[in-house]
Order: sequence, then C-alpha cells, then structure tokens
Amino acid sequence: MTSARKIEVRCPNCERAVTWDSGSHWKPFCSERCKLIDLGAWFQEERAIPGNEAAEQIPAGDHD
Ligand SMILES: [Zn+2]
Repeated sequence: MTSARKIEVRCPNCERAVTWDSGSHWKPFCSERCKLIDLGAWFQEERAIPGNEAAEQIPAGDHD
C-alpha cells in the first residue's frame, strides 16, 4: 500500500504553498481571498482590452 502523499502547489496569486487535498476548498489558491483577487484581475484584464470585439478584422494582404 502506498502512504498518502502530501501534494503542495503554489498559490497563483501570492505563491504561498498550498496543500492539495480534498480539504483545500480554494485550491490551487491558498484562500478564498486569493481566488477572488485572481479572478478579479482576470476580469479586469478581459475588460481592459480595447476594441476586443472589433479585432476580428480581415488582415491586409489577403488579396491575390
Ligand atoms: Zn494566496
């Protein structure tokens, strides 16, 4: 039999060591706070892209 191994990951937000097991509710984050902060940053980046919807223009040089 194999003994239970302790897997640790780094919190993507604060890089703290997080034990990866069923009791870690916020994995891979160390806490709910870090999870929310990371998600918030992600949403801000998404919104920060100017003209994202208009970026699907046909690139020049497509003619023959
Ligand atoms: Zn963290």
